[in-house]
Amino acid sequence: MKINKAYKFRLEPNTEQEIILNNLVGSARFVWNQVLAISFEMFAKDAFINATNLVNKIMDLKSNPDFEFLKTSSNAVSLQQKVRDLASAWSRFFDPKVHARLKENKKKPRKPKFFKLADGTEIQRRPLMPQFKRKSDGRDSIRLVQFDKYCRVEGNRVKLPNGVGLVTFRKSQDIIGTIKNVTISKKLGHWYVSFGTERELDENPRHPATSAIGLDMGISKLLTTSNGQYIKPKNSFKANQIKLAKLQRQLSRKVLFSQNWKKQNRKIQKLHSHIANIRHDYLHKITTRISKNHAMIACEDLKVANMSKSASGSVENKGRHVKAKSGLNKSILDQGWGMMVDMLEYKQHWQGGLLIKVNPRYTSQTCSECQHIAVDNRQTQSKFECVKCMYVANADFNAARNILAAGHAVLSAEGGCSKGRPLKQKTCDLREKVA
Ligand SMILES: [Zn+2]
Repeated sequence: MKINKAYKFRLEPNTEQEIILNNLVGSARFVWNQVLAISFEMFAKDAFINATNLVNKIMDLKSNPDFEFLKTSSNAVSLQQKVRDLASAWSRFFDPKVHARLKENKKKPRKPKFFKLADGTEIQRRPLMPQFKRKSDGRDSIRLVQFDKYCRVEGNRVKLPNGVGLVTFRKSQDIIGTIKNVTISKKLGHWYVSFGTERELDENPRHPATSAIGLDMGISKLLTTSNGQYIKPKNSFKANQIKLAKLQRQLSRKVLFSQNWKKQNRKIQKLHSHIANIRHDYLHKITTRISKNHAMIACEDLKVANMSKSASGSVENKGRHVKAKSGLNKSILDQGWGMMVDMLEYKQHWQGGLLIKVNPRYTSQTCSECQHIAVDNRQTQSKFECVKCMYVANADFNAARNILAAGHAVLSAEGGCSKGRPLKQKTCDLREKVA
């Protein structure tokens, strides 16, 4: 079994290296925009848009005397990759399934935008069509494939082509596996390097542990385990909330889209990205530890999205506890329960362990001692007291034990066979960040 994993680190180029890197990502952005404009023309003429067709356009751009800089300040491999990404964006646009999903989400219709073709006519830009990239978006990247041919890693430095040379990166962990590609990205003024690796795993890896654990996910305690341990949430959002609110107040006093407004807006974006990084890092640490220590993990089958919806009071609760729930949603999103479950799932898969998602129904009302189900069992948020057998326990701990029992039940019903699951790490992880 092959697994893919991305390792992302902060890159620390010196001034000269930064100039070259800025040119490289700039020309890649330029080519994306040029080829996008060309593909709008193709779209208007009903011409076939695919990777080969679009990649061929790079040659035309390079031979244009106005774009002389493409010959000197770009990386050919990265331009091809950029245009391939554009082709994938188009194929998503042409995929009816993706459109169907968009309709489900029912986003508010935006004011229509148009693209002016060479002959002066305009075509309407539709949802999911690829978009033009701007420098002011604050994010740029290039991807280089055939790593061995153009790059190499020496300790905490990576050699990059186009005269960039050896660049230092903050190597916070070892890179395991063969590096297949490298992505250099710039986000809000910081540079990052992400190594895409491939590793051959045992066809049927055997999990080092033999124990099983049930996890209850909560608000005040991020996780309560069936062996009675708690993991506190890292409320990165809460800790930075005051700071964020202050920045946003300052923003509201500035003239919209003025230089100062833009500067302030960048500060806010930076704080958001900082918060996301902390949370991501924390969740990785927790999930790695749990996954290493337990061959079978049972957790609730969360439909975080559904829970979020019920806060408006539309579902069976009819508005009861609406206020409490809206606060709850913020915390759910803050802690990224869904992200945590995803991480547990692929980490278990790699190690030959299992993650079993159980139906969360009654897990909080069932007595884990005598299995008696009653609403009255749960008198307060934190205390569980069985009305039948008088068993008293912490409510989250009781739930975690029920979840583990439900996991065992699923396992015995399925005969202990794990279903085929995708082996790849989630693309969001792959492209975005891995601590
Ligand atoms: Zn009981």
